[in-house]
This record gives sequence, structure tokens and C-alpha cells, in this order.
Amino acid sequence: MSWDARKAGVRVAESLAVAAIYFAAGRVGLAVPFTNANVSPLWPAAGIALGSLLIFGLRVWPGIALGAFLVDAFTPIPHLTAMLIAIGTTLGPVVAAALLRGKLVPPIQRLTDIRHLILLGWIGPAISASIGASSLWLAGQISGSGLASAMGIWAFGDLLGVFLLVPLLFNVQDFKLTRPRLVELGLLMICLLAGSELLFRQSAVTGAVFGFLLLPFVIWGAVRFSIGGAALASLVVSGFAVWETARGEGPFLAYGTLIHHVQAMQVFIAVTSLSGLCLAAVIAERTKAEAALAREARLRRAQEQYRNIVETTNDGVWMIDGDFRTTFVNARMAEMLGYTPAEMLGRQPFDFLFPEDVARKQADLERRKQGVREVFYTRYRKKDGSELWAVLSASPFFSSKGKFVGALAMHSDVTLLRKTEETLRRNEKLITAGRLAASISHEVNNPLEAVINLLYLLKLQPMNDQSRQYVTLAEKEILRVSAISKRTLGFFRDQSARTELPLPPILDDTVSFYEHELAAHGVKVVRDYRAQGLVLVSQGEMQQVFANLISNALDAMKDGGQLTLRVSEEADHDHPGVRVEVEDTGAGIPDSDMEHLFEPFFTTKPSTGTGLGLWVAKEIVEKHGGAITVCSQREPGNSGTQFSIFLPRAVAAHAVA
Ligand code: ADP
Ligand code: MG
Repeated sequence: MSWDARKAGVRVAESLAVAAIYFAAGRVGLAVPFTNANVSPLWPAAGIALGSLLIFGLRVWPGIALGAFLVDAFTPIPHLTAMLIAIGTTLGPVVAAALLRGKLVPPIQRLTDIRHLILLGWIGPAISASIGASSLWLAGQISGSGLASAMGIWAFGDLLGVFLLVPLLFNVQDFKLTRPRLVELGLLMICLLAGSELLFRQSAVTGAVFGFLLLPFVIWGAVRFSIGGAALASLVVSGFAVWETARGEGPFLAYGTLIHHVQAMQVFIAVTSLSGLCLAAVIAERTKAEAALAREARLRRAQEQYRNIVETTNDGVWMIDGDFRTTFVNARMAEMLGYTPAEMLGRQPFDFLFPEDVARKQADLERRKQGVREVFYTRYRKKDGSELWAVLSASPFFSSKGKFVGALAMHSDVTLLRKTEETLRRNEKLITAGRLAASISHEVNNPLEAVINLLYLLKLQPMNDQSRQYVTLAEKEILRVSAISKRTLGFFRDQSARTELPLPPILDDTVSFYEHELAAHGVKVVRDYRAQGLVLVSQGEMQQVFANLISNALDAMKDGGQLTLRVSEEADHDHPGVRVEVEDTGAGIPDSDMEHLFEPFFTTKPSTGTGLGLWVAKEIVEKHGGAITVCSQREPGNSGTQFSIFLPRAVAAHAVA
């Protein structure tokens, strides 16, 4: 079967089903005992018609027309009249449905929906009643004098059908209940049936207003089972009211003629059902508003939480949009770069780079557009022009259509680490160079020493003046070579310029590099900075000196201890300067080792040591015109080592060379 044929089949089935239900509802309407010439005071079929047109669409109108025709075709009225009535009862709901389309969509959850149902729902019944009652009059089924009231009852009966059935059809979902709630619904139904039975049957309680004694049950339905509950409760009450009034029982008989009974009862049904529906709609609206408020509160809490995370993290968070414009930076990110977040918003990351890095950054961002997530080192230009090195972890964002809409990058400041790494790399080179220099001088100096000795012995031999002059010359040249070779030992001097710097920050920088190890071995750092410690030094070399001393102290305190860093002024020297002390609570140094400490390659750490740390430190300190000394204690419980460095404030001319 083709798709179209199948669709047509479904539509025919829909229409036939509607016809069948309409027919059944029509038969119920006609069964109402005081139905007079096919005019019923309660016409549920009108609700079925409007409900199915709104749920399935206007296309099911043939089903309604068929059902409507069949309902009247089985009554004594002529078929032509039945056909005319069918036209009226189809046209009315179709017009009403066309007007309500888009305005009233299942399920009913707002008061506005009920208002639409009231304001536009009456148009259908008015059309159906006008055409229907007129047709009956034309067919001689009702008298001219009875036409107006028949039309009224018809229209009102249709309208009640709409009020009772459309909300029920729309809100079937309200009856998807758990077991305890089903029990409650059953209880409500029992109360309604028993109450109705009592009120409409008991002659003791006759009196029109007593009908409203059932209102609390309708309210129960509305409060606990929403629109569906209100509609169902009203339907039960209405059914009873119609049936019993028609049988000549109940409170509505107090009003003279039959017509009056009917109208009083119709008003009762309208008031009861609309009160229930409105109440249920208001409650549904409130429930929805409460849910929305709760959702909003949850959302706000979540947002607050995320904001807290983003603002308190030690990482810089940076978000850009599809055009690489900054849409968000956290306070930490801005602080890293020396800006305020407001100054960064709307600007591109390129504005925070050194010109030579821009091309690389553009390539990075292009990669991001391709969806690449990555982690890498990057360099920014801070507001004051200095460098910020960061480890950047970036991920792109895409819209649901796959378009690049921005990216998020997390930054960790690694400037210090990077600088320390650089220093360490330099030190590494220095150490290698030192080792090379030491071995060369060792290899060369020994034979030279031998040659010098031989020349000395040669000079003691008898020889002529010419020969003595040659030997003296050779000796002089050899001594020169020896001096050169010795000087190479000192060739690993730092190229960086010396500047007047305070020592405590350099110490802090250096110690921060060992933070992890210090913590891991449970070593406490005590800073005792008694002076600003301003001296003319090369920062890199000083870092190297301190690094060597601190790493030795760490090696000596594998089981924890205290590392004390002290800086003080020293005035009572030949010339004033600064004293730096690096003190540990390690095991101390045996006396036998003391005299070898500053020798190259002297180490007591066979696998990890190089024996160059103290030697290099001494070389550097002496190059600065200073001195390094050591004292150590080995008494158990009071052991430790203190290295003490003196650096003169004004460096003697010979030391700078
Ligand atoms: P390395 O550390 O590579 O062995 P160093 O020149 O730094 O070379 O130190 C030489 C030796 O001096 C070390 O092997 C160690 O025996 C001793 N030493 C240095 N500092 C300390 C200290 N703070 N406590 C105990 N021993 C030390
Ligand atoms: Mg060492």
C-alpha cells in the first residue's frame, strides 16, 4: 500500500471512529427522559464533536456529519430533517473548532484556555441550535411558539456538552495515577454517586440550593485531579441532575413548568462545571508557576555554584565567541594579565600577545575551529609589557548545526616554573662546562707539571747561556699555558649582567621550586629576613648558589626537619654587605669530610651526587667578592649544618673581572 493510501485509510478510520462515538453520545443524549422532539437539555455529542475536531483536526468532519445523521435517522423525524439537523450539528462545531484552533490545545492547563472555551465555545451550539430547531419547526415537529425556547434549550444543552466533555477529552492524562491516587479517585466517585443519589432522590432535602451541596465534591475533583477530575465530577453530578429531574425527582422540581425545571437544572450544571474547571485551571496554573519558580531557583543555585567554582579557582578561565571576541574572563585570568575583566571583554586574544606570537596564535585558533582540543604552553604579554607563561587547555564549542561558536580555555600560570626551568637548564650547562673544564685542566695540568719539573731539573744542568735562555723561555711559555688551563676552570661564569637586587625574593623564588619536595619530606621552611638584603649580583648565579645549598639541605633531611633561610646586614666587616644563611637540621657533616666539601667531584652520594654543587657555589660567591663558610654539628638530637655566605655591597674591582 502506498504511503498516501495508508494515510487516507487512517483518515477514514479516524472519521468512522468519531462517527461511532458521536452516535453513541447522541443516543445517550436522546435517552434523557425529557428529551422533547430531539431537543435535549444535555447534549454530550456536541462536546465529542468539538473535542475530536480540535484533537484530530478539522478533517474528521465527515465522521461527525455521519454520526449526527444516524442519530436522528433512527428517530421518527423525516430523513430530510435529519439531514438538515446533521448539517447544523456539523457546521456549528466546525466553525467553533476553526475559531479555537491554536488557541485551545490539549491539555488544558490555564485559565485562559477555559476563557477561550467559554467565549468561543458558544458559537457552535448557537449555529447548531438555530439550524436544528428551525428544521424541526419546518418539519412540524415543534410549534412556532415553542421554537425560541427549543432553540435555547438546544443551544444550552450543546454548550453543557462542550463544557463537560472537551476538558475530559483534552485532559485524559490527569487520570494517569498511582495506585493510592486511584483509590482516592474511586472514593470520590463513591461520594459523588452517594451524594447525588441522596440529594436528587431524597424528598427531605428538596430545595434548589441543595443541589450545590455537591459542589465540594467537584472542588475535591478539581483540587486533587485537576481539570480532568473537575470535568469527571461535574459529568457525574450533571448526569444525575438530568436523569433525576427528568424522572420528576430532586431539587429542580420546585420551578413550575417543565421548561423551567430544565433551565434551572442547566444553570446548575453550568455553574457547577465552570466553577470546578476554573478552580482546577487556577490550581494548575499555580502548580506550573511553582514548578517554574522551583526550576528557576535550582537553576540560580546551580549558576551560583558554577560562578563560585569559576571565580575561586586558581586557574584563569577565558571564553571567546565565534569571532574570537572575549565573552568572559574570570578575575584570576584578568589578574594574571594585569587587567580587569571589564578591560578584556570584547577584545581578541591577539591583543594580549607579543607581535611575534600572533601568527602562531591565529593558527591555534584555526585548529580550534576544526574541533581540536589541546593542551600547550603559551605566552601572553601582560599589561605592564612583561611575559606571562601559561599552560593552556582549550576546547571548542559548536552549535547544534556544527558551526564554531566559540572556545573555552583554562590557564595555569607557569611563568615562575618556566623561569626556574630556564635557570636549571643554564645551571646544567654550567655544570657540564665545569666538569669539562675540570677534567681538561686535570688532564693538561699533570703533564704540564711534569714538563715544568723537567725544565727545572734541566736548568740545574751545566749549559751555555744560549741554551739557558731557551730553557727559561720554554719555562715561561709553559707556565703561561698552565695559567690558561687553570683559568678555564673559571670560564663558566654567567653572562647575565649584575644588578642591585634584594636577596629575599631570590631565595623565595628558589625555594618555591622545591616546594613539592619540601612538603613530601615534611620539611618546614622558616624565613628569617631581617634585612632588605640589597646587593649587586647576577640573579641567575645567585639562584644557582641557593639551589645547590637548598638541595643539599633537602638531601640531608630525608626524614623531615626545618630549613631556615636567614638574611641580615653585616656592617662590622672590612666593607659592609649582606649575610645569607641556609641552615638545616640534618645529620651534619663528619669532620673528615669538612676539608673536602668544596672540592670538585667530592660527593658522599654515590648514585645521585656530582660533587660539583658546593664547588660551583663557592666559585660563584667568590666571583662576587664574597665568601662561603660552613659549620656543622653531629650530636644526636642537635645535629645540623649551616652554610653562611657573605656578599659585599660594593664589589671590589678585581672580583667583577
Ligand atoms: P653533591 O650534592 O652532588 O654530592 P655537593 O658539592 O653539593 O655535591 O656536596 C658535596 C657533599 O657535601 C655532599 O655529598 C654531602 O656529603 C656534603 N654536604 C653538602 N651539604 C650538606 C648538608 N647540608 N648536610 C650534610 N652534608 C652535606
Ligand atoms: Mg649537591
